[in-house]
Amino acid sequence: MDLSGNSVRSLLVYVHFPYCLKKCPYCDFASYPATADRIDHVRYADAIIAELGLRAGSIPADAELASVFFGGGTPSLWEPKELGRALKAIRAAVPRERGDLEVTVECNPSSFDERRASAMLDQGVNRVSIGIQSLDSERLAFLGRLHDADGGLEALRAAMRAGFTRVSGDLIFGVQGGRPQTSQAASCEVDRVAETGVRHLSAYGLTIESGTQFGELHRKGRLPVATDDVVVDSFFAIEEALTARGFSHYEISNYAVPGEEARHNLGYWRGADYLGLGCAAVGTMSRADGTALRHKNHPDPGRYMKGVFAGAPTLAEEEVLSAEMRLQERIMLGLRLERGLDLAEAGRALGVDPFTPERRAAIDRLAASNRLLVEGSHLRVAPQARALTDGIVAALF
Ligand code: SF4
Repeated sequence: MDLSGNSVRSLLVYVHFPYCLKKCPYCDFASYPATADRIDHVRYADAIIAELGLRAGSIPADAELASVFFGGGTPSLWEPKELGRALKAIRAAVPRERGDLEVTVECNPSSFDERRASAMLDQGVNRVSIGIQSLDSERLAFLGRLHDADGGLEALRAAMRAGFTRVSGDLIFGVQGGRPQTSQAASCEVDRVAETGVRHLSAYGLTIESGTQFGELHRKGRLPVATDDVVVDSFFAIEEALTARGFSHYEISNYAVPGEEARHNLGYWRGADYLGLGCAAVGTMSRADGTALRHKNHPDPGRYMKGVFAGAPTLAEEEVLSAEMRLQERIMLGLRLERGLDLAEAGRALGVDPFTPERRAAIDRLAASNRLLVEGSHLRVAPQARALTDGIVAALF
């Protein structure tokens, strides 16, 4: 319901921009190397707008646009005018929007400066998330990044000088290549990022994905990998450093000064509908019977654009998620949040009974071993067990 008592349904929109200046060796996102002058900025915006037109019928009449997120890839490479044109079309396509609409662009320090930040602000962007990844030159080189430590910090400052009040920095911990990172070094890095004045920070443990350069090196036994102990120690060292600075650890990989949480991601974690536009984009729209339709666009930009201009998005996958599958997803995502989730409420929203005898038994076991805190139907992972969240979630499926 909105403030006037009208029924509304929060809608998130994700736009994927698939180009980066260089492919990072650990990255398994749909991203392709291209310099700015080789990208057809106008055509990609046209494709997004064409796809929006094709999907307009799936936007519910009671939808309220809560957030638009431009991810990638490196959307800070996209001409701001073209990104702005796509944004304008999205805003026009949804019946209403929240007064505090969040519009985020993921940025890479190597394609972001104060001028670009101002141009984004002019287009209606009000939040940037900047991939710093590390503040150590050797680790940055190992991660294949094009910027140096000063470049990362300068990008955060440039965003703030341009007038952004919502700036987030991304860091990766558990990096063993280059100069191996200790937990003290991880905590020192988040401190230095926080000192710039950012009010949101994401810290991800490095994961090795198959199909990436790192995956291949790992398969051959040639990739230095941090031990679990170093990763867990770094996780808690980062938590300690940031909570001492007034950040809340509101999601496993995310910290914010209270009130500065990423609303877009909070929407995902709480099960909101999202429209996905662009190559490789995923969208999920609920249906009246508790199921949802999920689509994934083809990851190849050329095939994607050809499809939408011909009148039908080229899909990589489409599936109907049953209410039980959606419940499992809500458990998985909800338990990543510090506040956890109300299982009875999630079950009610999806029309399924979440308290099967097996799940009740698992909840009791996890509570008895102090890994899960249970208050009525509300579950949350105990603070000291947060590094084990994946295993806890699996036990509840
Ligand atoms: S900049 Fe980001 S999206 Fe692009 S290749 Fe590197 S990690 Fe992947």
